[in-house]
Parts: sequence; structure tokens; C-alpha cells
Amino acid sequence: MKKYQLAKPYIGAEEKEAVCSVLSSGVLSLGPITLKFEKQFAKRIGTRYACAVSSGTAGLHLALLAAGIGPGDEIITTPFSFIASANAILYTGASPVFVDVDSETGNIDTKKIEKRITRRTKAILVVHIFGHPAEMSDVMRIAKKHKLKVIEDACEALGAIHRDRNVGTFGESAVFAFYANKQITTGEGGMIVTNKKGIYRMCLSMRNQGRSSDMQWLEHERLGFNYRMDEMSAALGVTQLGRIHYILRERARIAQLYEKNLRPFQDYVIVPQTLKNNTRSWFVYTVRLKGNVSHRNAIIQRIGKMGISTKPYLPSIHLSEFYRKTFRYKSNMFPVSELVSASSIALPFYIGLTNSDIRYIVSKLILAIKSFQK
Ligand SMILES: *Cc1c(COP(=O)(O)O)cnc(C)c1O
Repeated sequence: MKKYQLAKPYIGAEEKEAVCSVLSSGVLSLGPITLKFEKQFAKRIGTRYACAVSSGTAGLHLALLAAGIGPGDEIITTPFSFIASANAILYTGASPVFVDVDSETGNIDTKKIEKRITRRTKAILVVHIFGHPAEMSDVMRIAKKHKLKVIEDACEALGAIHRDRNVGTFGESAVFAFYANKQITTGEGGMIVTNKKGIYRMCLSMRNQGRSSDMQWLEHERLGFNYRMDEMSAALGVTQLGRIHYILRERARIAQLYEKNLRPFQDYVIVPQTLKNNTRSWFVYTVRLKGNVSHRNAIIQRIGKMGISTKPYLPSIHLSEFYRKTFRYKSNMFPVSELVSASSIALPFYIGLTNSDIRYIVSKLILAIKSFQK
């Protein structure tokens, strides 16, 4: 029986060589490769600055702190995201204020933002979920009107384009992530991008224990963290970024193969759509069950028995145990997010899948769905 995992990094000989050459160099952190990765990354996105950090989560934390977010502030964001986006807000002492999502894209429903703005609202942390750009024209208009900052969680969206503009260039800052299931990986890692020198310098300082770049050895001017990226990770990043064009093209091609193979089965599943004026950067391939979704977990189990790993993607943040317990969130508070969460199945998605692999995965998926229908 052929086995299919959910995601797989695209790692070749060049990556291995790059990491080994760092190991031979003897400089394993705060070295030239991290600087090179930052320069090349900023160039690819089209921002003036980039600051490499140890994870996407660390990047979000610093981006929020650098924006001056702290205790008492409210930050608007969505519950349909990886939990890190809301957690990063909590780290600063501020409160996440959830706004429900659009059912088609899973991104923030911009019509519902203004109702949630209060005197304490300081920023919108907008997530480009599954690599589909959020409706940034609306987000930026609302932010301007209410004098809010915008920070982009672009952790799933490297290479995505909204109205001819790269995702990551709209907000005061944006954060990308390089965990092994993202479009490019450094093992663990993240990147903050910005056009503002002050934000950039603050992030540099805070990732390195509060030391500013022009200060003496072991002088610290603020509370900082160890959120540095190491040189082996940066070497992976430089190599992966060099292949980004191919990686994005291949992922888009594989998504198209899924779409083609799923077309006859539209009575069973809803396939992801990309709205006009957007280029999606394919992060996962997630379908949604049509109609009754109560067998979703059982379907996932059944497909798993056939050697195919699939996952609910994503659970809504507000219904996770920690958020329920701490903030008394309940079902039906964000019904669209909850429905998308309850109906979703992420299918195996990585470079190397062929049309026949995908035909096989789709046939087993449909078989499993049918087996639960009376
Ligand atoms: C992956 C991801 C993050 C966090 O990235 P890590 O590198 O795992 O810390 C944040 N937000 C979203 C939407 C993500 O998908």
C-alpha cells in the first residue's frame, strides 16, 4: 500500500551542501548567511528591510511589540488561523478580538470589522490564510479611517499577490514563517519585513536580548528575547529562496491537478477557490465536505487506514481548550469559522505528487465519503 503524508519539505543536494558549508565555517549564529538571507528575502518581497527570527511565532510577537502593542490594547484578528496568530497577541498583554471569516476564502470578513472596533483597538493582525490574500484594499481603508496599524500574518502566503502587489507589503510590517510544511523551510524560522527603519531596528534589538546594533558588547537597552535565527537555518533559507519560483509553480500545478480530478465530485466536496485580483500561493490543499459534516473525523480516519494522511484544517482558535477556558468562548460565536473548521479536510500536498497519486488520493477520499452516506 502506497503511503502519503500530509506535507513534505522540498530538500535537495544544494540544501545539504549549504548547511555543511556553514558547519565547516565555524560561524553558527549572527553571521553572514543570515544577513544574506535577509537581504535576498527583502528583495523578493519588495520591502526595504527584513529581520530573520527563530520562528514565525517569534516574528509575530516582535512585530506586535515593535508596533507598540501592549497590555490593555485590543487587536482585531480571525479565529480561523493557526493558534500562533492569536497567541502572539496574548504574549504582549493585549487581547485578540476575533472577527468571523468569509466562507469562500477563510479570510477576515471585512464587512464585520468595524462593528468590533472600540477605543482600545490599536491594530488589525490580518491573516492570509492558506496563502489566499485577504481583502487588503478594504482592510487598509478601514485601518486608515480608524487610525489602526496593520500587521500581516503572511506565514502561509509567501509569493501571494493581491491586486498586483506582493502580500507582505501592505501593513506596517509582515511576518513569514519557514516551518517544514511552509512553501520554503529553514527547519524552524521566520522573517519580519517592513519599510520602516524604526520597526526594523527595534526587531533586530529585541530578537537579540535587547541589544541595539550600535551598542557595546553585553549592553542591553530594553527587555529582549533570544529569537535569533541560526546560520544553518539561514543557509537552508537562502537555498530554498533560490528555488522559490520553481516551488511556487509546482505547488500551483499540483493544486490544479487536484482541482481537475475533483471536478466530477462537486456533489461531495467544495474545492478551494481563488478570488479575482489574487494570486494564491498554495500552502495546503483543503477541501470542504458538502452538506452533513458530522462524519468528517470518521472519514479522515478511514482514509488514514488506506495509507493517506489527511487532517482537519484548521480548528477554530476560540474553540481550543485554552481559549474556551480562559476567555469563555463558546460554539456559535463565530459560525462561519466553525463551519469551515468542521467541514475541512486537508489532503496530501507536496512537490513530487503525480497525477496518478492525486487520482488515487481523490478516489479514496470519495470512497470514504460515500461509505458514510446512507
Ligand atoms: C505557521 C504559522 C504561524 C507560525 O509559524 P511558526 O514558524 O510555526 O512559529 C503563524 N501563523 C500562521 C497562520 C501560520 O500558518
